[in-house]
Amino acid sequence: MIELIIEDRCAACNKCVEICPTNVLAIVPGGIPRIARQDECETCYMCELYCPHDAIYVGPDCERPEPVDKDVILASGLLGEFRRNHGWDEWAGDPRYTNEHWQMENVFLRARGAAPAGQV
Ligand code: SF4
Ligand code: SF4
Repeated sequence: MIELIIEDRCAACNKCVEICPTNVLAIVPGGIPRIARQDECETCYMCELYCPHDAIYVGPDCERPEPVDKDVILASGLLGEFRRNHGWDEWAGDPRYTNEHWQMENVFLRARGAAPAGQV
């Protein structure tokens, strides 16, 4: 489940809000998104994948929240790992990280109701 948005890293672009298939996150005018409905989180990692600033931590437990310490997570090296491992953005073209996540993207877009008609 999503556990943290690191305020210092977040640029308030709201990409995570837009991509979340279950509307877990809420826009806060003038601020960073809020984890508004954590119990609706599907642990799909899409918000981590789409966050260009590696400001989100999603824990592995999909059944219940596991509160984490911000400093421990910052020191862990886990932030951005999912995006890197899928070869996104600056990792595109690095042969160590092949992007297979495109296979899931339309599934989540369809769940979100955001896919253009006829493309899923
Ligand atoms: S892990 Fe998936 S369901 Fe959970 S907040 Fe992120 S995008 Fe939404
Ligand atoms: S995608 Fe990342 S930087 Fe953008 S609002 Fe969400 S947490 Fe902040």
